[in-house]
Amino acid sequence: MTEGKVAIIQNKQEASSAANNKLTALLKEANYTIDQNDPDIVISIGGDGTFLSAFHEFDHKLDRIRFLGVHTGHLGFYTDWRDFELEELVSNLSNDENPPISYPLLDVQVKYYDQKKPQRFLALNEATIKRATRTMVADVYIKDEIFERFRGDGLSVSTPTGSTAYNKSVGGAVLHPRINAFQLAEIASLNNRVFRTLGSPIIISDSEWLEISLEESSDYMVTIDRFTVEHDEIESISFKIADERVHFASYRHMHFWRRVKDSFIGEV
Ligand code: NAP
Repeated sequence: MTEGKVAIIQNKQEASSAANNKLTALLKEANYTIDQNDPDIVISIGGDGTFLSAFHEFDHKLDRIRFLGVHTGHLGFYTDWRDFELEELVSNLSNDENPPISYPLLDVQVKYYDQKKPQRFLALNEATIKRATRTMVADVYIKDEIFERFRGDGLSVSTPTGSTAYNKSVGGAVLHPRINAFQLAEIASLNNRVFRTLGSPIIISDSEWLEISLEESSDYMVTIDRFTVEHDEIESISFKIADERVHFASYRHMHFWRRVKDSFIGEV
């Protein structure tokens, strides 16, 4: 009897290839099938960045896929298992008694001047909007009401699990992933007697939405996690908490704040 179908996504490191070989053998022994196209479980081997790639490869099947991350370096935020724990991982997967865990995603809709239909993306970490050459000017609306006119390098909108990534580097708050909310953080805003923004990150609830309306220009760069939206005619981008969530398999309950401490502070 087969236990389920597993896809394995790895980065290019030698340690990841070695872990992949060992994991494939262990999974087959435990009656799993390796299926890179139509899996029930997706295992990433590498780092949090590899997990992001694995997520996007299967983000159109989120309702029936569970994800699991193996880190070949230090522990990450999406990667619960280390590459020397593969036997334990497979046994845990077969007797998965961990409570189901899922975390919020960001629904990103990009509207274009030259297209009627907006394009929809899901972000696991964040979306950023920046302007390549001059100062970016954008009107920020919350629930259809103008909130502020932003001038500066750009804006970052992140999920709770993405709050420890780019968001943290631009001064955003770290959010516990059980909080169903998203965060807007400024990237080098211009604040003086003429231009004024709130100047601090804001946390937006799951019943609210955000829209960033851009001044007409062809040189905006919109990123979603690891990829860039290529288009010259971006008019606005709106954000809300997505209906879909990312579901984890064999999620190990490490105290979230301990994970944050281990990653950013170390021994006190
Ligand atoms: P990447 O190599 O995939 O990631 C860059 C770094 O961010 C890696 O060290 C990665 O950890 C770490 N990371 C990814 N997601 C994280 C999370 N949720 N919490 C804490 N750390 C996380 O680089 P990329 O392909 O350019 O972009 C992927 C992500 O990198 C983006 O979503 C963005 O959040 C982040 N990024 C951060 C900055 C910045 O902080 N200035 C700039 C650009 C991009 P691993 O080593 O475990 O993979």
